[in-house]
Amino acid sequence: MKVTDILHRCFRCGYCKFPSNYEDFNCPSYVTYRFETFSPGGRMWVIREWLDGRLETSNRFKEILYSCATCSNCVNHCAFPDFRDMLLDVFRYAKEKLIDEGDVPPPVRDYLTNLYKFKNGFGIPQKKRFEWAEEVEDYDSKKHNYLLYVGDEACFDPVANNMARSTVELFKKINVPFGILTTREISDGLEAYNLGETELFKEIAKRLLEIFKEVEAKKIVTISPHSLYVFKKIYPAFFDMDFEFYHYTHVIRENLSRLTNSKIFKKISYHDPCYLGRYLKDYTTVRDILSFFCKDFLELSRNKKNSLCCGGGGGNFYTALTQKNLENSAKKRIVEALELGVDCLIVSCPICLVMLNDAKKTLGLDDKIEVMDVSEFILKYV
Ligand code: SF4
Ligand code: SF4
Repeated sequence: MKVTDILHRCFRCGYCKFPSNYEDFNCPSYVTYRFETFSPGGRMWVIREWLDGRLETSNRFKEILYSCATCSNCVNHCAFPDFRDMLLDVFRYAKEKLIDEGDVPPPVRDYLTNLYKFKNGFGIPQKKRFEWAEEVEDYDSKKHNYLLYVGDEACFDPVANNMARSTVELFKKINVPFGILTTREISDGLEAYNLGETELFKEIAKRLLEIFKEVEAKKIVTISPHSLYVFKKIYPAFFDMDFEFYHYTHVIRENLSRLTNSKIFKKISYHDPCYLGRYLKDYTTVRDILSFFCKDFLELSRNKKNSLCCGGGGGNFYTALTQKNLENSAKKRIVEALELGVDCLIVSCPICLVMLNDAKKTLGLDDKIEVMDVSEFILKYV
């Protein structure tokens, strides 16, 4: 089936913007804008009109396309199994066309320019990438089991950087032999792919794979589930490669016996990140770790494949299109966790960490709930 065929087959029935029990809207761009054109089915409707030449390339149309957080809720909940796996290919197809026309929203253009010039989305010189990691060794294939791929957000964003620091500290504490790429590490390119800049994605991915090969990496551990996903599922569609990929929580779970099994008396919950959960179907690793330490683990009502995305995927962490209005999914998530009565909301993705911490601050709830990643949580409380 061609992606354009789906535009005709979609019924605009709207199941795709809900979780399985329909308790609330679960498409982050729809949560923010509340216009049907910002829901998956509505977005397809306007793409169809645009491709048929009945709709001009307006700023609103571009916003509709780029505010999709690629959270994959729609893929999991569309009523039509024949084509639901291809929904995001439809949106990407339209974004590729906009890129070809050179007509994208300014924040998207700025992100891609940074990525092209600096090989990271922040526009910060690469020599600053690992300024925070002076005491971490350069990867040496003879000495280290793992190459730790840290990624743009955990290297450059100050809040996400805490996650990189604590992962490094925890790996050292449990004697995991690992090294990093220091100034050689570059972006994984996923957001270029998601934003429809396929050529830039291929250029970046090709270079990063060359670097992995040059250092003779075998087992690569990522901090971000987004990196894990792009390495495992998108790179192989373009390149021959032979590496093993893991998320940092996989390494922690494997080495749990090296940590004290001291029970933590905190009420906690876990926010499933889309790229580890819905995309890679890993709903157990983090829950195994948390239940090892905590007896008071409570599930948010929207969990696993029904998780409510923080709104940061698909480049929205950089472009902030899902944050344009007062209401957004990250704020809703914080309110849900508070209503559940938990002290800590645990995450396992640097983008979720930043988005949910921002939401907590904006809501003035800084002293009511902690948002921290798995490694920060273990270091602080175990
Ligand atoms: S994408 Fe699927 S669930 Fe959503 S409106 Fe279209 S047919 Fe309905
Ligand atoms: S991927 Fe997520 S944000 Fe994008 S249309 Fe689907 S449900 Fe909405």
